[in-house]
Amino acid sequence: MKNFWIVIAAVTLFVASAAAQTERLQVDATDAPRNILHATLTIPVSSGAVDIVYPKWLPGNHRPTGPIQNFTGLHFKANGQELEWKRDLEDMYQFHLQVPAGVTELQVSYDTITYNGTNSLASSKVLDLLWNQVVLYPRGASPNTVKVTASVHLPEGWKFGTALTPAQQNGNTVEFQPVSLTTLVDSPLIAGANYRQVQINPAGESITHVIDLVGESEDAIQITDRDIASLKQLVAETGKLFGARHYTKYHFLLTLGNQTAHHGLEHHESSDNGAAEDMFSNPAAHDLEADLLPHEFFHSWNGKYRRPAGLATPSYQEPMHGDLLWVYEGLTDYYGNILAARTGFRTPYQFRENLAYTAAMLDYRAGRTWRPLQDTAVSVQTLFAAPPEWTNWRRTADYYPEGYLIWLEVDTLMRQKSNGQKSLNDFCHLFHGGQSGPPTVVTYKFEDVVAGLNQIVPNDWARLLRERLDSKSPRAPLGGITNGGWRLVYTDQKNTTMDAREKSSGGLDLSFSLGLIASKEGDLRDVIPGSEAYAAGLGPGMKIIAVNGRKWSKDVMRAALRAAKHNQQPIAVLAENGEYFNTYQVNYHEGERYPHLVRADGQPDFLDDIIKPMTTGAN
Ligand SMILES: [Zn+2]
Repeated sequence: MKNFWIVIAAVTLFVASAAAQTERLQVDATDAPRNILHATLTIPVSSGAVDIVYPKWLPGNHRPTGPIQNFTGLHFKANGQELEWKRDLEDMYQFHLQVPAGVTELQVSYDTITYNGTNSLASSKVLDLLWNQVVLYPRGASPNTVKVTASVHLPEGWKFGTALTPAQQNGNTVEFQPVSLTTLVDSPLIAGANYRQVQINPAGESITHVIDLVGESEDAIQITDRDIASLKQLVAETGKLFGARHYTKYHFLLTLGNQTAHHGLEHHESSDNGAAEDMFSNPAAHDLEADLLPHEFFHSWNGKYRRPAGLATPSYQEPMHGDLLWVYEGLTDYYGNILAARTGFRTPYQFRENLAYTAAMLDYRAGRTWRPLQDTAVSVQTLFAAPPEWTNWRRTADYYPEGYLIWLEVDTLMRQKSNGQKSLNDFCHLFHGGQSGPPTVVTYKFEDVVAGLNQIVPNDWARLLRERLDSKSPRAPLGGITNGGWRLVYTDQKNTTMDAREKSSGGLDLSFSLGLIASKEGDLRDVIPGSEAYAAGLGPGMKIIAVNGRKWSKDVMRAALRAAKHNQQPIAVLAENGEYFNTYQVNYHEGERYPHLVRADGQPDFLDDIIKPMTTGAN
């Protein structure tokens, strides 16, 4: 194991000496309700040619997604005099300036637009402030050595949550203690008119854990006692699993709203989560979001503390390498779901239904015959920009769910080979544990993962992992399910995860029968190559108008599927393709099909063992 940051810190000392003074950042968030932030920043500089950059490659995003297109209203001044700036011809994130003699500080003012449709970062009631969107720094400087004193002026009466430590508060303005740019960018702030903080420390835990909630309404932030108990259990479970914590306090930041982004982004000492306004009152929304907080929390160890070397870059301007994201995100996806079940966010049945859906979705992924899983990780820079249409053939960030299946296989193999004495839990303890302390980064490579696995249970893990990662098999790796004592089957009974998704999106997912996914209005989001719908000529982007002569609705489509079981007639799908209409004859007769897991007779139930809590009496 090598600690990449130690090497970087030594190199950047030279750069740091010139920029060791502190930047002062003042964010005026009073215009947050219309999704624009105003900011002023002072940057210590020397005279001559100076290059200033805006963060481009974002940790946790793994992509060049700094929203430079939303960075507006830019002015540089020195001693009160306006300075001309020029954007670099190739790097859109870089600004060139000539600083006059005698000037030691730039005064910069700018706005950041946070509007992005339903993925906006603010509304009339809430704000998710990402400091990377409102900050600049000298090109070549290390974010570890640039110091920033940040403050924010919030709308009247709004309260906030963040892992940053306030230095002083004056009315709606709060100034934070100076931190490195790394820590600032790693410490988002949420704020809102409706705010609540709940302590979630289990008995005997000395490090402070809280959840900060902001929401569109007072109702939204009413987290249930049951979920508070699950969060306490989550803290206790991670303590037992890893045996160490790499933070000095932890804030779950949760924004509940339907106008703002539903997402999760991990940080060392907090996680920035956005979910549906009714997450705590709507069982379907709760089921869909059940692994969100466990996932982002797990990242504090897997992703923030232990990080692939290619993702631990010297600053926000260097490209990242996504090739190990099946560990970074795949292992986190696995444990996010496991911890959701271990802590009661999901019932064991909901856990299995979710796993059945994940397995089936990947088992029907046509694109796996041309694109190995490894390439989905390497392609992280491009995949999120793609529309939903043709996802099945293109593939998407499959290193999350297929990583889940691969780590389940590894876990069950460890349990089999050790007669239940060892498991992936032991690997987590070894690989992500170590000494407790403040945030730090320890990088790893593929070989380090393999060596860690071998230390727990000797096996040819390198070969197994490479086979899974480089495979172009049309079938998904389901060994973890069968090793776990279960089988993937299809019945006409709805899958609970798919049902929750349908209730949330309103769409209809017939991936495992007809071979299509449609919106509530009949827009074809995807058609699976190899399915009967695909064979009939239907394609993503078309819109279903009628089924068997009757106007489209989900019920009409489901009724047609059931009826076709008992006759030889193809299902007639009238679809609009731009300016043209056509009737497609879909020769499908197997009725509705949804995935489930059933027990394999006579085999030990490792799956049930895996989701058993490691601790008891956390409350
Ligand atoms: Zn993640």
